[in-house]
Amino acid sequence: MSARHEKPSGQSLSRLPSVEHLLQKKEFLVLAEKFGRRELLFATRSVLAEQREAVRQGRIDEEELDHALACLEDSVRARLTSATDPSLTPLVNATGIIVHTNLGRAPLSEAAIEAVALIASSYNNLELDIRSGKRGHRGTYILGRLFPGREILVVNNNAAAVLLALNSFALSREVIISRGELVEIGGSFRVPDILERSGARLREVGTTNKTRIADYEAAINSSTGLILRVHPSNFRMIGFTESASTEELVALGRAHGLPVIEDFGSGNLVSLAAHGLPEEPVVETSLKTGIDMVSFSGDKLLGGPQAGILVGTPERISVCRKNPLARALRVDKLTLAALEATVSAFVRERPLEEIPVLKMIATPASEIRTRCRHITAELEAVAGLDLSVEEGLSKVGGGAAPEEEIPTFVISVGAEGLSAQQVHERLRSQSPPVVARIAEDRVLIDLRTVFPRQEGALLAALSSLKRGQD
Ligand SMILES: *Cc1c(COP(=O)(O)O)cnc(C)c1O
Repeated sequence: MSARHEKPSGQSLSRLPSVEHLLQKKEFLVLAEKFGRRELLFATRSVLAEQREAVRQGRIDEEELDHALACLEDSVRARLTSATDPSLTPLVNATGIIVHTNLGRAPLSEAAIEAVALIASSYNNLELDIRSGKRGHRGTYILGRLFPGREILVVNNNAAAVLLALNSFALSREVIISRGELVEIGGSFRVPDILERSGARLREVGTTNKTRIADYEAAINSSTGLILRVHPSNFRMIGFTESASTEELVALGRAHGLPVIEDFGSGNLVSLAAHGLPEEPVVETSLKTGIDMVSFSGDKLLGGPQAGILVGTPERISVCRKNPLARALRVDKLTLAALEATVSAFVRERPLEEIPVLKMIATPASEIRTRCRHITAELEAVAGLDLSVEEGLSKVGGGAAPEEEIPTFVISVGAEGLSAQQVHERLRSQSPPVVARIAEDRVLIDLRTVFPRQEGALLAALSSLKRGQD
């Protein structure tokens, strides 16, 4: 440490090798092969620049410089590895929030993953009718099995589905919507914004808590384009409320030749009432009223890839399909492959067994308690770690039914000398990162959203909290 704060020696600086010299070394040629010459050049320059700066400022002595020079290749390799790592990385969701928008919403089923790999690795009949050898249209036939007599159009996400529907039927026209349904949905989906960009004009009716069918009727005029209903999947109005039924809206639409469309949000295809959730309307019930079209997300309670699904009468869907916007909003083959495999589980009536988000909802709390106890038993001997199993609540989450809670068990985590915030940071810095929840100054781990195959990683992350670890 003797050289610290002394004037930098020109001699030390001259010991740093030149970039050209390094790049000719065998180990660096290997790195160039693996990471590309441009990335290697960039990483080498920046490592050398940092060492030069450290020498100039007298932050390292001769001995430390020796060490740094001996490890040059390692430093450059570490930099290259982190620079070329993908930014998207898998993690352990221990929040207990099942459809978590920040964490990628629905993880795919085994069948969906296989379908993606199969279609991704080969050519396919995306737009070919195999029988006739002629051009076909990219579509999904299996979704049609769920909705007999209806046509299906799949686009990039539900926001795109709503945009397309509005633009197809209400360009420069009015869309009638209840004021009570205009409440902001999540942080990112605001019906009024989408409406405006679709070229439609908003015609709000009723009050925040009461909208009657007569309010809709009174708003109809020669420039009305459609009637829109938005399923309040993100909020719930309680108490003194009133809204028109879908049947009433459909009858009104028919009488005036106007399409009636329902944005279903999360798109519940099966009732989850048997699993402790409130009775929510399912898509089929809405379709039975004779409604023109419904739309919903692919990656909320359907449990598939990001997509927006429009289900409607052949005439209405055909109008949407012919809209040039449909071309800009279309999905790719990988999404279609994953979606068809996901939907297949519903067609075969096995959604709760095969679709991860539904399986998580249906897992009994007692099973989660057993898993929690297994983990705490494994870590009993870890010094400085304070774990207990407590009752808690999981959430369906983000844009699906965020306020709906399911009883669960959680592991409450404390670590000697660390605040809850510090514990959470430590867990997030593991590989894979573990994201949990903080409540009342304790970190809570909910295994409902942790795959059993991730329990090893979770154990390792929790072990990293042991006393004396830094
Ligand atoms: C989530 C949600 C949307 C947006 O769906 P994305 O698939 O995320 O585009 C639209 N409407 C409702 C009612 C929603 O709940």
